[in-house]
Amino acid sequence: MELELQPLNLPSDNPRPFIIAGPCSAESEEQVMTTATQLAKKGCHMFRAGVWKPRTKPGGFEGHGEKALPWMQRVRQETGMLTAIEVATPEHVELALRYGIDILWIGARTTANPFAVQALADALKGVDVPVLVKNPVNPDLELWIGALERINGAGIRRMGAIHRGFSSYDKKIYRNLPMWQIPIELHRRIPNLPIACDPSHIGGRRDLIAPLCQQAMDMGMDGLIIESHCNPDAAWSDASQQVTPDILDYILSILVIRDKVVSTENIVALRKQIDEIDDALIDLLAKRMRVSREIGQYKKEHGMTIVQTSRYSEILDKRGAQGSLMGIGADCIKQIFESIHEESVRQQVEVMK
Ligand code: PEP
Ligand code: MN
Repeated sequence: MELELQPLNLPSDNPRPFIIAGPCSAESEEQVMTTATQLAKKGCHMFRAGVWKPRTKPGGFEGHGEKALPWMQRVRQETGMLTAIEVATPEHVELALRYGIDILWIGARTTANPFAVQALADALKGVDVPVLVKNPVNPDLELWIGALERINGAGIRRMGAIHRGFSSYDKKIYRNLPMWQIPIELHRRIPNLPIACDPSHIGGRRDLIAPLCQQAMDMGMDGLIIESHCNPDAAWSDASQQVTPDILDYILSILVIRDKVVSTENIVALRKQIDEIDDALIDLLAKRMRVSREIGQYKKEHGMTIVQTSRYSEILDKRGAQGSLMGIGADCIKQIFESIHEESVRQQVEVMK
């Protein structure tokens, strides 16, 4: 299914990126107004705040709900900023629209649930409001696209995606693994869908926001949604990943926005080189497969099994180390050789038949 889209047309100083900033949660009228006023002074045009908060365990701050919506209205009236909140149920949608919220977003936990997304889509029928869909918590591009299709199917035309990373059992540097290949593939599949990055939820740490913003820009993303709080250390949720409006302004001021369209001669020549190298790689792989089939023939004649585990481990270890020496990640090399080995085995099975 193709998405029928219209431009999001969100306010932006430059062509790119659009910025949505604000606290994880709307905690009090004062916190909302203080943060919003500071952000507006820094030139921010769109204000986010969580009014209903999905919490992993009961007992945490679950948001003020409807009580916080008039605070968002005040932000709109007094600063002129557009307002954005997360909606997770049809009632949230109805209340958000009643209070004139400008932009809705669907949170990662909701996107993962097709029933919930369909209920939101049904509630959005006949409404014209921009809707941003966060990626599901799990790295499943089809589920993300499915959610976008459901919302689009309800007639929502101004849509965007938010890349907020994917949860994993063993957390390393990031709170949520970026897995950039997934938003990149989303862009390839739906080229006219704007994609924003949420470095706050990917990083989970203040010091990761700046590098993640830069990475997102280098990937050609269209917008950023960043958590900003007037007093981050005292935040009721996600304290470790929020920055003051001052710091946010600094982070944005040092961002380097590179041209998305490549028009220089140089890049054309470099791409030609890449094409030639890829041709040579495929050529070499085909040769490798031919040798592999010969080995298959040998194994067949000598009654040997196809997979010789010790040989396989030796290949993975050696190639990984070789790759590292040449500045290629050992994991990357390992993955490549796992795929090559898989295909070799498949070809040998063919020979054995
Ligand atoms: C949020 O934006 O505060 C939030 C809850 O994000 P996510 O749905 O990405 O976890
Ligand atoms: Mn948050």
